[in-house]
Amino acid sequence: MFKNKTAIVTGAAKGIGYGIALALAKERTNVVLADMDESANEKSAKEIEKETGSKCVAVKCDVSKKEDVDNLVKTAINEFGTLDILVNNAGIFPSKPFLELTETDWDKVIDVNLKSVFLCSQAAAKVMRDGSKIVSISSIASLVGFEGLTHYCASKGGINGMTRALALELAPKKINVNAIAPGLIGTPGVDAGLNDEAKKQMLTMIPWNRMGLPEDIANAVVFLASPQSDYITGQVIVVDGGWTLR
Ligand code: NAD
Repeated sequence: MFKNKTAIVTGAAKGIGYGIALALAKERTNVVLADMDESANEKSAKEIEKETGSKCVAVKCDVSKKEDVDNLVKTAINEFGTLDILVNNAGIFPSKPFLELTETDWDKVIDVNLKSVFLCSQAAAKVMRDGSKIVSISSIASLVGFEGLTHYCASKGGINGMTRALALELAPKKINVNAIAPGLIGTPGVDAGLNDEAKKQMLTMIPWNRMGLPEDIANAVVFLASPQSDYITGQVIVVDGGWTLR
């Protein structure tokens, strides 16, 4: 389905981004893995290339920096000639009570989670051809509130709004722009941020009675990156085991 296509996946060194890069590579996509963590990213690119036989390139990139993002897109074009799929996945979720949030805390989360989607999507859309796909990883925190995550909820709500507006602007170029809103997914980021008690408490919120896996999100990304979703644009698709149903 994706033979000879090229994807950029940001935050691909681990967690959901790694799962997405692996799933796209299994579909024969060339994958450019972008991450700030250079050594983990290079290791991940080698692992995925070995497992799938698809070409993988690791690029060190801080997605909140325009210079890094421009270099990322340039590298994808230099290596593979085209850019067909952009997955805006890199993100951070540090928890802090609202009254203790500093301006620096706020700016950091907005820059990494939201400004990055502007920088990457703009740089990519400039070189993408008709039929290309942009998929951003939002969160159910864009739809319901979470204490200690006001800055994060704002950043993910921003992604949803941007997804709808950008889908309109890029429709004439036949570029689909969609987002996925994951629930609780087992990743290194979640392991570092939640203790076992908090995870147990969260499980009671999930009708499916399990945490999601990176593959659960990757499967939705593969669909939104494929021609099978050509008539879907500007949507936020919730993948949360039913968390937000009640
Ligand atoms: P993670 O912390 O396990 O992995 C994130 C990756 O992004 C890391 O490899 C990290 O090095 C990279 N990264 C962080 N800042 C970066 C930057 N400035 N530039 C480039 N790379 C950067 O996180 P995860 O749980 O896999 O989350 C991935 C995405 O999914 C995030 O946008 C997150 O908000 C979203 N999400 C996660 C969950 C969840 O439960 N895990 C739920 C909803 C949404």
